[in-house]
Amino acid sequence: MQTRIVKISGDREKDDRIIEEAGRIIKKGGLVAVPTETVYGLAGDALNPGSSKKIYEAKGRPSDNPLIVHIARLKDLETIARDIPDTAYALAIAYWPGPLTMVLNKKDIVPKETTGGLDTVAVRFPENEIMQKVIISSGGFIAAPSANRSGRPSCTNASHCEEDLGGRIDMIIDGGESGIGLESTVLDLTAARPVILRHGYIDKAMVERVTGPVDIETTATEKPRAPGMKYRHYAPKGELTLVSGEAEKTARRILELAAGHAHNGGKTAVIFARENAALYEGAKDISLYDAGSLNDEDTIAHRLFSILRELDEEECRYIYSECFDTPRLGRAIMDRLSRAAEGRVISAD
Ligand code: AMP
Ligand code: MG
Repeated sequence: MQTRIVKISGDREKDDRIIEEAGRIIKKGGLVAVPTETVYGLAGDALNPGSSKKIYEAKGRPSDNPLIVHIARLKDLETIARDIPDTAYALAIAYWPGPLTMVLNKKDIVPKETTGGLDTVAVRFPENEIMQKVIISSGGFIAAPSANRSGRPSCTNASHCEEDLGGRIDMIIDGGESGIGLESTVLDLTAARPVILRHGYIDKAMVERVTGPVDIETTATEKPRAPGMKYRHYAPKGELTLVSGEAEKTARRILELAAGHAHNGGKTAVIFARENAALYEGAKDISLYDAGSLNDEDTIAHRLFSILRELDEEECRYIYSECFDTPRLGRAIMDRLSRAAEGRVISAD
Protein backbone atom coordinates (compact mmCIF):
# COMPACT_ATOMS: atom_id res chain seq x y z
CA MET A 1 0.00 0.00 0.00
CA GLN A 2 1.22 3.47 -0.89
CA THR A 3 1.07 5.89 2.06
CA ARG A 4 0.42 9.51 1.06
CA ILE A 5 2.17 12.06 3.24
CA VAL A 6 0.53 15.47 3.16
CA LYS A 7 1.67 18.58 4.95
CA ILE A 8 -0.55 21.11 6.66
CA SER A 9 0.65 24.42 5.19
CA GLY A 10 -1.47 27.04 6.88
CA ASP A 11 -3.26 27.74 3.59
CA ARG A 12 -6.85 27.35 4.74
CA GLU A 13 -8.32 26.01 1.51
CA LYS A 14 -5.58 23.47 0.88
CA ASP A 15 -5.66 22.31 4.49
CA ASP A 16 -9.43 21.90 4.41
CA ARG A 17 -9.11 19.73 1.29
CA ILE A 18 -6.59 17.51 3.11
CA ILE A 19 -8.94 17.20 6.08
CA GLU A 20 -11.91 16.38 3.85
CA GLU A 21 -9.89 13.70 2.10
CA ALA A 22 -8.80 12.22 5.42
CA GLY A 23 -12.49 12.16 6.44
CA ARG A 24 -13.42 10.32 3.23
CA ILE A 25 -10.66 7.74 3.72
CA ILE A 26 -11.72 7.07 7.33
CA LYS A 27 -15.44 6.85 6.43
CA LYS A 28 -14.53 4.20 3.84
CA GLY A 29 -12.71 2.17 6.50
CA GLY A 30 -9.15 3.43 5.82
CA LEU A 31 -6.49 4.67 8.25
CA VAL A 32 -4.83 8.08 8.59
CA ALA A 33 -2.07 9.18 11.00
CA VAL A 34 -3.11 12.53 12.48
CA PRO A 35 -1.27 15.00 14.74
CA THR A 36 -2.66 15.62 18.22
CA GLU A 37 -1.32 17.72 21.09
CA THR A 38 -0.10 14.58 22.92
CA VAL A 39 1.43 12.32 20.23
CA TYR A 40 0.39 11.38 16.67
CA GLY A 41 -2.67 9.11 16.54
CA LEU A 42 -3.55 6.39 14.03
CA ALA A 43 -7.14 7.29 13.16
CA GLY A 44 -9.88 4.93 12.00
CA ASP A 45 -13.68 4.92 12.33
CA ALA A 46 -14.34 3.94 15.96
CA LEU A 47 -17.81 2.61 15.16
CA ASN A 48 -16.62 0.33 12.33
CA PRO A 49 -15.26 -3.01 13.64
CA GLY A 50 -13.34 -3.52 10.37
CA SER A 51 -11.44 -0.25 10.90
CA SER A 52 -10.44 -1.23 14.41
CA LYS A 53 -9.19 -4.59 13.15
CA LYS A 54 -7.08 -2.75 10.57
CA ILE A 55 -5.62 -0.51 13.30
CA TYR A 56 -4.51 -3.55 15.31
CA GLU A 57 -2.98 -5.09 12.19
CA ALA A 58 -1.14 -1.95 11.08
CA LYS A 59 0.33 -1.43 14.56
CA GLY A 60 0.93 -5.11 15.32
CA ARG A 61 -1.03 -4.38 18.52
CA PRO A 62 -2.40 -7.22 20.67
CA SER A 63 -6.19 -7.28 20.13
CA ASP A 64 -7.02 -7.14 23.86
CA ASN A 65 -5.44 -3.68 24.16
CA PRO A 66 -8.38 -1.26 23.73
CA LEU A 67 -8.38 1.89 21.61
CA ILE A 68 -9.23 5.39 22.81
CA VAL A 69 -12.24 6.94 21.05
CA HIS A 70 -11.79 10.61 20.16
CA ILE A 71 -14.67 13.07 19.92
CA ALA A 72 -14.78 16.75 19.02
CA ARG A 73 -18.16 17.79 20.52
CA LEU A 74 -19.03 17.24 24.17
CA LYS A 75 -22.58 16.14 23.32
CA ASP A 76 -21.17 13.18 21.38
CA LEU A 77 -20.01 11.65 24.67
CA GLU A 78 -23.57 10.52 25.35
CA THR A 79 -23.75 8.66 22.03
CA ILE A 80 -21.00 6.25 23.07
CA ALA A 81 -21.00 6.20 26.90
CA ARG A 82 -23.68 5.51 29.54
CA ASP A 83 -23.97 6.02 33.33
CA ILE A 84 -21.80 9.12 32.90
CA PRO A 85 -21.04 10.45 36.41
CA ASP A 86 -21.11 14.17 37.26
CA THR A 87 -17.36 14.02 37.80
CA ALA A 88 -16.90 13.27 34.09
CA TYR A 89 -18.69 16.48 33.17
CA ALA A 90 -16.75 18.45 35.77
CA LEU A 91 -13.48 17.06 34.37
CA ALA A 92 -14.60 17.81 30.82
CA ILE A 93 -15.26 21.42 31.77
CA ALA A 94 -11.84 21.68 33.42
CA TYR A 95 -9.62 19.78 30.96
CA TRP A 96 -11.38 19.17 27.62
CA PRO A 97 -10.35 19.71 24.94
CA GLY A 98 -7.05 18.37 26.23
CA PRO A 99 -4.82 15.46 27.23
CA LEU A 100 -7.28 13.62 29.50
CA THR A 101 -8.93 10.28 28.61
CA MET A 102 -11.91 9.07 30.65
CA VAL A 103 -12.93 5.40 30.86
CA LEU A 104 -16.74 5.03 31.08
CA ASN A 105 -19.33 2.28 30.53
CA LYS A 106 -19.91 1.92 26.81
CA LYS A 107 -23.09 1.94 24.77
CA ASP A 108 -23.78 -0.87 22.27
CA ILE A 109 -22.95 1.36 19.31
CA VAL A 110 -19.23 1.01 20.17
CA PRO A 111 -18.04 -2.34 18.82
CA LYS A 112 -16.07 -4.65 21.10
CA GLU A 113 -13.36 -4.69 18.43
CA THR A 114 -12.67 -1.08 19.39
CA THR A 115 -12.67 -1.68 23.16
CA GLY A 116 -10.55 -4.82 23.12
CA GLY A 117 -13.58 -6.85 24.24
CA LEU A 118 -14.35 -4.62 27.26
CA ASP A 119 -17.75 -3.17 28.25
CA THR A 120 -16.10 0.18 28.86
CA VAL A 121 -14.90 2.80 26.43
CA ALA A 122 -12.03 5.27 26.83
CA VAL A 123 -12.95 8.73 25.49
CA ARG A 124 -10.88 11.83 24.79
CA PHE A 125 -11.69 15.25 23.30
CA PRO A 126 -8.33 16.39 21.86
CA GLU A 127 -7.32 20.03 21.57
CA ASN A 128 -5.40 19.89 18.29
CA GLU A 129 -7.46 21.69 15.67
CA ILE A 130 -6.44 19.43 12.78
CA MET A 131 -7.46 16.37 14.78
CA GLN A 132 -10.77 18.00 15.74
CA LYS A 133 -11.55 18.75 12.10
CA VAL A 134 -10.62 15.23 10.98
CA ILE A 135 -12.93 13.81 13.67
CA ILE A 136 -15.84 15.92 12.45
CA SER A 137 -15.20 15.26 8.77
CA SER A 138 -15.08 11.51 9.35
CA GLY A 139 -18.35 11.27 11.24
CA GLY A 140 -17.54 12.24 14.83
CA PHE A 141 -15.95 9.15 16.42
CA ILE A 142 -12.34 8.24 15.75
CA ALA A 143 -10.42 5.38 17.32
CA ALA A 144 -6.84 6.58 17.54
CA PRO A 145 -4.10 4.77 19.40
CA SER A 146 -0.61 6.20 19.26
CA ALA A 147 0.64 5.95 15.65
CA ASN A 148 3.68 3.79 16.39
CA ARG A 149 4.26 0.09 15.74
CA SER A 150 3.34 -1.73 18.94
CA GLY A 151 6.17 -1.69 21.48
CA ARG A 152 8.00 1.28 19.88
CA PRO A 153 8.18 4.81 21.31
CA SER A 154 5.12 6.92 20.42
CA CYS A 155 5.44 9.28 17.43
CA THR A 156 5.83 13.01 18.01
CA ASN A 157 6.21 13.97 14.34
CA ALA A 158 5.21 12.76 10.87
CA SER A 159 8.55 11.18 10.01
CA HIS A 160 8.30 8.92 13.09
CA CYS A 161 4.89 7.79 11.74
CA GLU A 162 6.38 7.14 8.31
CA GLU A 163 9.21 5.11 9.85
CA ASP A 164 6.75 2.85 11.67
CA LEU A 165 3.66 2.77 9.46
CA GLY A 166 4.79 3.81 5.95
CA GLY A 167 3.29 1.31 3.46
CA ARG A 168 0.75 0.08 6.03
CA ILE A 169 -1.76 2.96 6.15
CA ASP A 170 -3.48 5.25 3.62
CA MET A 171 -2.25 8.68 4.67
CA ILE A 172 -0.11 10.64 7.13
CA ILE A 173 -1.03 14.25 7.90
CA ASP A 174 2.12 16.19 8.76
CA GLY A 175 1.07 18.87 11.23
CA GLY A 176 4.50 19.48 12.76
CA GLU A 177 5.74 18.43 16.20
CA SER A 178 3.29 17.29 18.90
CA GLY A 179 3.46 19.90 21.65
CA ILE A 180 3.19 17.73 24.77
CA GLY A 181 4.97 14.62 23.55
CA LEU A 182 3.50 12.22 26.16
CA GLU A 183 0.23 10.31 25.74
CA SER A 184 -2.91 11.40 27.58
CA THR A 185 -3.66 10.66 31.22
CA VAL A 186 -6.09 7.71 31.35
CA LEU A 187 -8.62 7.95 34.19
CA ASP A 188 -11.15 5.23 35.04
CA LEU A 189 -14.47 6.71 36.18
CA THR A 190 -16.48 3.47 36.37
CA ALA A 191 -15.89 2.86 40.11
CA ALA A 192 -16.90 5.01 43.09
CA ARG A 193 -13.46 6.61 43.20
CA PRO A 194 -11.52 7.65 40.06
CA VAL A 195 -8.41 5.63 39.26
CA ILE A 196 -5.45 6.84 37.19
CA LEU A 197 -4.60 3.98 34.81
CA ARG A 198 -1.87 5.82 32.92
CA HIS A 199 0.03 8.94 33.99
CA GLY A 200 0.11 11.85 31.58
CA TYR A 201 0.17 15.61 31.32
CA ILE A 202 -2.88 16.01 33.60
CA ASP A 203 -1.36 14.88 36.88
CA LYS A 204 -3.01 13.48 40.02
CA ALA A 205 -3.26 16.87 41.74
CA MET A 206 -5.02 18.37 38.71
CA VAL A 207 -7.59 15.55 38.71
CA GLU A 208 -8.07 15.71 42.50
CA ARG A 209 -8.73 19.43 42.34
CA VAL A 210 -11.89 18.55 40.42
CA THR A 211 -12.91 15.13 41.77
CA GLY A 212 -11.46 14.79 45.26
CA PRO A 213 -9.28 11.76 46.17
CA VAL A 214 -8.05 9.59 43.33
CA ASP A 215 -6.37 6.16 43.34
CA ILE A 216 -3.46 5.08 41.18
CA GLU A 217 -3.50 1.72 39.45
CA THR A 218 -0.36 -0.26 40.13
CA THR A 219 1.13 -1.65 36.94
CA ALA A 220 2.53 -4.68 38.73
CA THR A 221 -0.75 -6.64 38.50
CA GLU A 222 -1.07 -9.35 35.88
CA LYS A 223 -4.46 -8.11 34.72
CA PRO A 224 -4.20 -4.33 34.89
CA ARG A 225 -7.36 -2.31 34.31
CA ALA A 226 -5.67 -0.61 31.35
CA PRO A 227 -4.74 -3.73 29.40
CA GLY A 228 -2.07 -1.83 27.47
CA MET A 229 0.00 -1.33 30.61
CA LYS A 230 1.06 -4.98 30.72
CA TYR A 231 2.81 -4.89 27.35
CA ARG A 232 6.42 -4.10 26.56
CA HIS A 233 6.46 -0.51 25.42
CA TYR A 234 8.64 2.35 24.24
CA ALA A 235 11.77 0.19 24.19
CA PRO A 236 14.69 1.29 22.04
CA LYS A 237 16.62 -1.48 20.27
CA GLY A 238 19.62 -1.03 22.57
CA GLU A 239 19.55 -2.04 26.25
CA LEU A 240 18.33 0.87 28.38
CA THR A 241 19.20 0.99 32.09
CA LEU A 242 18.05 3.69 34.51
CA VAL A 243 20.55 4.86 37.11
CA SER A 244 19.14 6.43 40.27
CA GLY A 245 20.98 8.49 42.84
CA GLU A 246 22.71 11.78 43.41
CA ALA A 247 23.86 13.45 40.15
CA GLU A 248 27.65 13.23 40.56
CA LYS A 249 27.58 9.62 41.70
CA THR A 250 25.19 8.76 38.89
CA ALA A 251 27.48 10.29 36.27
CA ARG A 252 30.52 8.52 37.73
CA ARG A 253 28.71 5.17 37.65
CA ILE A 254 27.48 5.68 34.09
CA LEU A 255 30.96 6.65 32.85
CA GLU A 256 32.45 3.57 34.53
CA LEU A 257 29.86 1.33 32.88
CA ALA A 258 30.46 3.00 29.50
CA ALA A 259 34.22 2.44 29.83
CA GLY A 260 33.49 -1.22 30.50
CA HIS A 261 31.65 -1.49 27.17
CA ALA A 262 34.26 0.41 25.14
CA HIS A 263 36.36 -2.71 24.40
CA ASN A 264 33.56 -4.71 22.77
CA GLY A 265 32.69 -2.06 20.21
CA GLY A 266 29.15 -1.51 21.50
CA LYS A 267 28.14 2.12 21.22
CA THR A 268 27.07 3.60 24.56
CA ALA A 269 24.78 6.58 25.18
CA VAL A 270 23.63 8.58 28.18
CA ILE A 271 20.44 10.61 28.67
CA PHE A 272 20.90 13.36 31.25
CA ALA A 273 19.42 16.60 32.56
CA ARG A 274 21.01 19.80 31.23
CA GLU A 275 22.09 20.77 34.76
CA ASN A 276 24.39 17.73 34.78
CA ALA A 277 25.91 18.24 31.32
CA ALA A 278 29.30 19.25 32.73
CA LEU A 279 29.59 15.89 34.52
CA TYR A 280 29.78 14.11 31.17
CA GLU A 281 31.87 16.69 29.33
CA GLY A 282 34.88 15.29 27.51
CA ALA A 283 33.82 11.70 28.16
CA LYS A 284 35.08 9.33 25.49
CA ASP A 285 33.17 6.50 23.84
CA ILE A 286 29.75 7.76 24.85
CA SER A 287 27.03 9.64 22.94
CA LEU A 288 25.40 12.44 24.89
CA TYR A 289 21.64 13.10 24.91
CA ASP A 290 20.64 16.26 26.75
CA ALA A 291 16.96 15.82 27.71
CA GLY A 292 16.53 19.45 28.82
CA SER A 293 16.54 21.32 32.09
CA LEU A 294 14.93 19.96 35.27
CA ASN A 295 13.32 23.41 35.58
CA ASP A 296 11.56 22.84 32.27
CA GLU A 297 9.90 19.46 32.60
CA ASP A 298 7.62 20.16 29.62
CA THR A 299 10.70 20.08 27.38
CA ILE A 300 11.94 16.81 28.89
CA ALA A 301 8.51 15.26 28.25
CA HIS A 302 8.43 16.71 24.75
CA ARG A 303 11.89 15.36 23.83
CA LEU A 304 11.68 11.93 25.43
CA PHE A 305 10.22 9.83 22.59
CA SER A 306 12.38 11.57 19.97
CA ILE A 307 15.49 10.74 21.98
CA LEU A 308 14.43 7.09 22.27
CA ARG A 309 14.10 6.98 18.47
CA GLU A 310 17.41 8.81 17.86
CA LEU A 311 19.14 6.17 19.98
CA ASP A 312 17.97 3.56 17.47
CA GLU A 313 19.11 5.62 14.50
CA GLU A 314 22.53 5.95 16.10
CA GLU A 315 22.48 2.20 16.83
CA CYS A 316 23.31 2.70 20.50
CA ARG A 317 23.74 -0.68 22.13
CA TYR A 318 23.99 0.31 25.78
CA ILE A 319 21.97 3.25 27.02
CA TYR A 320 21.99 4.76 30.49
CA SER A 321 19.56 7.36 31.71
CA GLU A 322 19.40 9.55 34.76
CA CYS A 323 16.06 9.56 36.60
CA PHE A 324 13.90 12.65 36.06
CA ASP A 325 11.87 12.98 39.24
CA THR A 326 10.47 16.40 38.38
CA PRO A 327 7.52 17.71 40.43
CA ARG A 328 4.59 17.54 38.01
CA LEU A 329 5.46 15.34 35.04
CA GLY A 330 8.14 13.22 36.73
CA ARG A 331 5.74 10.32 37.25
CA ALA A 332 4.59 10.29 33.64
CA ILE A 333 8.17 10.62 32.34
CA MET A 334 9.52 7.90 34.65
CA ASP A 335 6.60 5.60 33.79
CA ARG A 336 7.65 5.72 30.11
CA LEU A 337 11.36 5.42 30.87
CA SER A 338 11.00 2.49 33.24
CA ARG A 339 8.89 0.59 30.74
CA ALA A 340 11.41 1.39 28.00
CA ALA A 341 14.06 0.01 30.38
CA GLU A 342 11.94 -3.10 30.99
CA GLY A 343 12.57 -2.79 34.71
CA ARG A 344 16.37 -2.34 34.57
CA VAL A 345 17.14 0.20 37.32
CA ILE A 346 20.41 0.35 39.24
CA SER A 347 21.50 2.53 42.12
CA ALA A 348 24.53 4.79 41.75
CA ASP A 349 25.51 4.22 45.39
P1 AMP B 1 -2.62 4.22 23.23
O1 AMP B 1 -3.70 3.78 22.32
O2 AMP B 1 -1.29 3.77 22.80
O3 AMP B 1 -2.66 5.67 23.54
O4 AMP B 1 -2.96 3.48 24.59
C1 AMP B 1 -4.24 3.59 25.14
C2 AMP B 1 -4.20 3.16 26.59
O5 AMP B 1 -5.52 3.31 27.15
C3 AMP B 1 -3.80 1.70 26.77
O6 AMP B 1 -2.97 1.55 27.90
C4 AMP B 1 -5.15 1.04 26.95
O7 AMP B 1 -5.03 -0.17 27.65
C5 AMP B 1 -5.93 2.10 27.72
N1 AMP B 1 -7.37 1.95 27.50
C6 AMP B 1 -8.06 2.18 26.37
N2 AMP B 1 -9.37 1.86 26.52
C7 AMP B 1 -9.52 1.40 27.79
C8 AMP B 1 -10.62 0.90 28.55
N3 AMP B 1 -11.84 0.80 28.03
N4 AMP B 1 -10.39 0.52 29.82
C9 AMP B 1 -9.15 0.62 30.35
N5 AMP B 1 -8.07 1.07 29.68
C10 AMP B 1 -8.24 1.46 28.41
MG1 MG C 1 0.64 3.59 22.55
